[in-house]
Amino acid sequence: MVAMDGPSGTGKSTVSRKLAAKLGAGYLDTGAMYRMVTLAVLRAGVDPADAPAVIAVAEKAELGIGTSPDEATVTLSGEPVAAEIRGADVTTAVSPVSAVPAVRELLVARQRDLIAEVLGRVGGIVVEGRDIGTVVAPDAELKVFLTASAEVRAARRSAQDSAAGRESTVDGAKAAVERRDRLDSTRATSPLRAADDAVEVDTSQLNIDQVIVALAELALHRGLLEDCPAEAAR
Ligand code: C5P
Repeated sequence: MVAMDGPSGTGKSTVSRKLAAKLGAGYLDTGAMYRMVTLAVLRAGVDPADAPAVIAVAEKAELGIGTSPDEATVTLSGEPVAAEIRGADVTTAVSPVSAVPAVRELLVARQRDLIAEVLGRVGGIVVEGRDIGTVVAPDAELKVFLTASAEVRAARRSAQDSAAGRESTVDGAKAAVERRDRLDSTRATSPLRAADDAVEVDTSQLNIDQVIVALAELALHRGLLEDCPAEAAR
């Protein structure tokens, strides 16, 4: 299993998906789960700062999440919400919702069940998030902490938003990623941080393929990949 943690805009999702495909492993996007609960909270008209009300929504939310690296199935009560959970409203409200300890408990339990199921069925999984190496799966064979400068992360996030048809400026994106990372890193429960035994990879100067080559090499050393890493990156 590979635990992939780090702040937003480091290329975590793309890298995790591609690495999972190379390893013939499953893939789990835990951020999508926090985003789905946040969408449910907003749809219920609940204030994201009202923890008891947030917990009540989280307990009832019917989350559907796929574990294949090829397709991102994300449903709330059966309805596809992959695009909606990436919108500005959810992105703004997700940090306070994910800071609620009972929400984390609920989702971490669900994540562990999904991981166990995929490991039993497929044999491997790449899991991305903020607390995978520290809390969800401290026994993961490979823990990666992806980083990049705030400027680079903002530029990537802004380009992603524009490509998805959402309004965006680099300055706005920079303020948003910095705010979210501050909230995620300073919360009391499971803050964003690298596990002591995580390998930190700075992606500021690397393109996706270069990151995959570096990670495939790490996976090879941990016995998670038998191919030549240069081949695996193609
Ligand atoms: O990775 P993504 O940007 O989709 O994550 C959205 C938010 O979900 C993060 O900003 C963080 O607040 C929360 N999150 C978390 N723990 C995780 C994954 C995401 O708290 N394992």
